[in-house]
Amino acid sequence: MNQLNPEIQNSRTGGKLNASVALVTGGSRGIGLGIAKELAKAGFNIAINGVRKPELVEPALEELRSCGVEAIYIRGDVSDRHDRQHLYEQVIAHFEKLNVLVNNAGIAPRVRMDILEATEEIYDEVLDTNLRGPYFLTQLFANQMVKQKKADPDFPCCIINVSSISATVASTNRGEYCLSKAGISMATKLWAARLGEFNIPAYEIQPGLVHTDMTAGVKEKYDRLLEEGICLLKRWGQPEDIGKVAAAMALGYLPYSTGQTVVVDGGMTLPRL
Ligand code: NAP
Repeated sequence: MNQLNPEIQNSRTGGKLNASVALVTGGSRGIGLGIAKELAKAGFNIAINGVRKPELVEPALEELRSCGVEAIYIRGDVSDRHDRQHLYEQVIAHFEKLNVLVNNAGIAPRVRMDILEATEEIYDEVLDTNLRGPYFLTQLFANQMVKQKKADPDFPCCIINVSSISATVASTNRGEYCLSKAGISMATKLWAARLGEFNIPAYEIQPGLVHTDMTAGVKEKYDRLLEEGICLLKRWGQPEDIGKVAAAMALGYLPYSTGQTVVVDGGMTLPRL
């Protein structure tokens, strides 16, 4: 049984600290905040993570708390082994458990370069943040989830990875980004395969074009392409679109499925003639 219903858990235990808990990496803005908000609306206590100073994240925390849940910020770079350990320890120290890990934090290459010229430095930065970070953060929390499941087989938990349509669509001016997203896509399958025996599902969300700081620099280009019909649904994706899909996964509304990918791209990658 993997169905999460934090609100029922809340009323049964009478305390927010006993509600289900979600950690959203990169939850301080953009898609991550969109996911955190939908989970908060569903009654999850939330830990968000990012690299900026805590005072800059206060408005996001206030917004989450206005849903009546507990929300904390844990600063840390997911590409850094010590920061990941700190993130893990802080979540467990504060909430004593984790139900849902959302690996969302990610970066685009600082400079888009043709793969005939791109540098190893940018490759390392993107792969460390988008693949090595979430892969080993999942390892930390997966071991914790296995412990929780052994203590209570009904303990609901899951892992959600935010990849991208770049996991399958080749962009030769940001090869490292595509590789990192293809890698996290396989990581989802690996974790699903390893954790299945404990009844812990792993899911992947592949967003298309989502209106965030990451895409601010290419907004005009894609406004035009949207007008020309690049997507079947003629609009930008919004963080809450991804948030609603993540909430469905976290709440157990994809029962008897694991290792699966949900593409949230307005039909952009649908093959057409
Ligand atoms: P964004 O607006 O640039 O936000 C990135 C978030 O990740 C911020 O919260 C940032 O924290 C955090 N972050 C960045 N590097 C980090 C690190 N090393 N350690 C911890 N946190 C870090 O990006 P977004 O558009 O919301 O993208 C979120 C995810 O969706 C990424 O994995 C991205 O690849 C994926 N995605 C985005 C799109 C899109 O169109 N936007 C499409 C497909 C996939 P700070 O606030 O502290 O900087």
